[in-house]
Amino acid sequence: MIQIKDLHKSYQMGSNSLHVLKGIDFNVKEGELVSIMGSSGSGKSTLLNILGMLDEADLGSYTLDNVSIKNLNEKVAAQYRNKFLGFIFQSFNLINYKNALDNVSMPLYYQGIKRKERTDKALHYLEKVGLADWATHLPSELSGGQKQRVAIARALASDPKVLLADEPTGALDTKTSYEVMELIQGINEEGKTILVVTHEPDIAEMTKRIVNLKDGRIIDDRPVNQILAKAHV
Ligand code: ADP
Ligand code: MG
Repeated sequence: MIQIKDLHKSYQMGSNSLHVLKGIDFNVKEGELVSIMGSSGSGKSTLLNILGMLDEADLGSYTLDNVSIKNLNEKVAAQYRNKFLGFIFQSFNLINYKNALDNVSMPLYYQGIKRKERTDKALHYLEKVGLADWATHLPSELSGGQKQRVAIARALASDPKVLLADEPTGALDTKTSYEVMELIQGINEEGKTILVVTHEPDIAEMTKRIVNLKDGRIIDDRPVNQILAKAHV
């Protein structure tokens, strides 16, 4: 599903250049649930933003569902982004003056889907995240965990190939974090390919594979069951 090879990214700041990704190689197969773990500043969000086509690498190659992502014009990039990718953020990024249903259905509007189908789909996905009874509520009337569930329903609504989540539990308490990760696990079990960025080992351990990033390089990339087995020796 995802193949990246020798990815490099630097940020220019005045006359200085900050080399953030220093040659990243990895592949993600369809149906995987992978976490990208590393301390703050290690380059996780930079990598996820490139995978999400929100930013571009300076060097290296990226293939998403057999499409080479390089030098696409903004219109084509936006089409691929809508078709292939769903995003979940730490801060939920819901629209405050729209209710849960409208938050979920709005991206479908921009894909030209008719009102009835938009509403049906949005209700279906709200139900899937356990919020069918909250459809008409505003984000301000929802708890943090419920807001993230709405955001997850929104990300799912267009049935993307890959879900990208950047610190999805970063704003949630421990118990709610585990509940949101259990929801993500369930979505993965239905076949969705999911990447979760986190700096928390406990959260990473709820995925199936941990890619450990340090100073812009992958220092470890293993299935979780191997890591846990070793930890208990
Ligand atoms: P992480 O998500 O692992 O905390 P980031 O990918 O956000 O790390 O950031 C990696 C490094 O790049 C940090 O030192 C950060 O300050 C820097 N950085 C991130 N985005 C930008 C930007 N737009 N311009 C300049 N520096 C940036
Ligand atoms: Mg980050």
